[in-house]
Amino acid sequence: MTIERCEILKRAEGLREEINHHNFLYYVLDQPIISDADYDALMRELKEIENKYPETVIPDSPTQRIGAPPSEKFVSIPHSIPMLSLDDAFSQEEVVEFDRRGRRLLQTDKGLEYIAEPKIDGLAVELVYENGTFVLGSTRGDGYTGEDVTANLRTIRSIPLRLIGRYLPLPKRLEVRGEVFINKNDFKLLNRRRMEEGEPLFANPRNAAAGSLRQLDPNITAGRLLNIFCYGIGVVKDCSFQTQWEVLSSLRKWGLRVNPLAEKLKGINGALQYHQRINRKREGLDYEIDGIVIKVNDIELQRRLGVKAKSPRWALAYKFEAAQAVTRIIAIQLSVGRTGAVTPVAIMAPVRVGGVVVSRATLHNEDEIRRKDVRIGDWIIVRRAGDVIPEVIRPLPERRSGEEQVFVMPTVCPVCGSELRRKSGEAAWRCPNPECFPRLVKQLTHFAGKGAMDIDGLGPKVAEQLISAGLIRSIADLYSIKLSDLLSLDRFAEKSAENLLSAIKASRHTTLARFFYALGIRHVGDVTAQLLADHFGSIKALMDASEEELEAVEGIGPEVASSIRSWFGDNDNIELVRVLIDAGTRFNDLKEEKALSLKDKTFVFTGGLSSLAREEAKDLVRDSGGQTTSTVGHGTDYVVVGKDPGSKLQRAEELGIPILSEEEFLELTSKHHSGKSRNPNILL
Ligand code: NAD
Repeated sequence: MTIERCEILKRAEGLREEINHHNFLYYVLDQPIISDADYDALMRELKEIENKYPETVIPDSPTQRIGAPPSEKFVSIPHSIPMLSLDDAFSQEEVVEFDRRGRRLLQTDKGLEYIAEPKIDGLAVELVYENGTFVLGSTRGDGYTGEDVTANLRTIRSIPLRLIGRYLPLPKRLEVRGEVFINKNDFKLLNRRRMEEGEPLFANPRNAAAGSLRQLDPNITAGRLLNIFCYGIGVVKDCSFQTQWEVLSSLRKWGLRVNPLAEKLKGINGALQYHQRINRKREGLDYEIDGIVIKVNDIELQRRLGVKAKSPRWALAYKFEAAQAVTRIIAIQLSVGRTGAVTPVAIMAPVRVGGVVVSRATLHNEDEIRRKDVRIGDWIIVRRAGDVIPEVIRPLPERRSGEEQVFVMPTVCPVCGSELRRKSGEAAWRCPNPECFPRLVKQLTHFAGKGAMDIDGLGPKVAEQLISAGLIRSIADLYSIKLSDLLSLDRFAEKSAENLLSAIKASRHTTLARFFYALGIRHVGDVTAQLLADHFGSIKALMDASEEELEAVEGIGPEVASSIRSWFGDNDNIELVRVLIDAGTRFNDLKEEKALSLKDKTFVFTGGLSSLAREEAKDLVRDSGGQTTSTVGHGTDYVVVGKDPGSKLQRAEELGIPILSEEEFLELTSKHHSGKSRNPNILL
């Protein structure tokens, strides 16, 4: 034997040992310590070696075995037909190769018909129905023998205890295969509960579902809200099927839950496109999937293709990029947020997760670091779901060297040095300084953001510039910025300064919901802001609302209500709103216009008024604190239109200036005249 071959075989042995260890942690304890992607990489390496030296493959190599033997906690149940695993593919080429191999074996040039469906990240079970009654349920186990979990499966609502026989005769015996899983939300909830109870968190929904199903007490399973999708069959007596599609539709008719996203596809290209379609849908699904499963539709062809030791030749799992990975924490830094919350952030060795490279992940707060026992230098599992900020799931204490450091939360703000504060009952430490640089930058960028005041060109870079130059010390300063101010800054030419200034000006024309959202009140996201705008109709009504009144709005909980109340309880915030309104913020709904101050507002009249003379109307404006001019320009706030208006109307329309009818004008001014403001300290 050459030295090289000797080395390779030694590596294979090492890999087998390592994989077996991970199988035990994953399948028996439901507590993996490496990510699926890392596991898959070990498995691939072993498969490559075994493919190169097939004579060295031993029967109990992990490449030849499925799952793990059933636990002794449960009664063992043999499967009449083995419950196999699936070969997996990670690239289009591998999928195309799977199709080519299949057609070669079948000696056909014709494209095959495939059935594809999402690959649910759960665990496989077999349900046995006798004359339509659910009699036995088991886990996949090692594929040949599973664990009897009938009592636990009975607690799953989507598993019928009796099948429907109305549409299709019930077979004498029906063995159904399906995937038991837990919904994303229930998974989060379950882990949150476990965190509160100091129990180890489940690394992924698959382990959560497995851990929940393999409970000795069915009451625990019942509390875990498990679900099922059925996708295949074992032995079926008195009934035969021609296609996989027929299997799925029969299962549906008997009342079993089949994934509605399953599709019949022409040729392998159809399957490749399906993979892309499902990948796009993935985030929106309320259950976790890790790929799609492709199966040859024709059952006779499936039979001819046959099975290998571990997997059928007629099916393939085409996986998505992993949403979890293992990496190392290099440092823990603090980040000051928009509301002053100081969040610890893990700085990690860059790692690819869910298709992007990440190097920062949130650790939420001090308590969570302590609860998870995350240390600087730790190997960790990091997770990224969609565009959500990557999050550290848990450390891998078994990989510690002893040099890891426990993180100590500083007592002062790392940026401005202010003493941090923590309210009782809150997890976050906060920097109390409203002018703290990163806090103000984030506030300003949030205020100017797309869903908020939508100020084009005011991103984080410009915000930093404005604040560093001392032009902005609070959001309230934004609308008093002048062209000369901007021109004094680096990278601002006449044109770009003008553009930014007109974007700032234009942003004053907004909606109430956007304005509420822009204020950056904790817990008030765009949806909540819309609820508040719909309900209260004006900024004043919202300011005056008591906590009870806020809570009475559907969709507003006590936490949000209390956050809004405490925000408006701060005089600086009330002043901010006043300044913004006085700077000319206007809302699209007239209800709000009425509540605005007319101070410094400029009116132009065009056309004849019917109920009062032009001079009387002008007096009304002056009495309300506004002024009138005769030409329409950028500085005009309202144009009041009477009978037979002149060209001023057209000009107002061109400039997008709000146009008021005589009636609306009278309503607006009378509102201010009557002084009906519910909060006289502000806005008037
Ligand atoms: P698999 O999960 O890659 O694929 C086979 C399984 O897919 C089936 O048994 C079934 O349970 C499931 N499935 C879901 N939807 C299906 C559908 N529509 N049709 C058919 N089957 C469907 O294979 P496996 O043997 O269950 O597990 C191997 C995988 O488990 C590895 O690739 C790895 O991702 C993970 N694993 C991780 C660790 C770890 O330590 N992190 C250890 C062991 C296994």
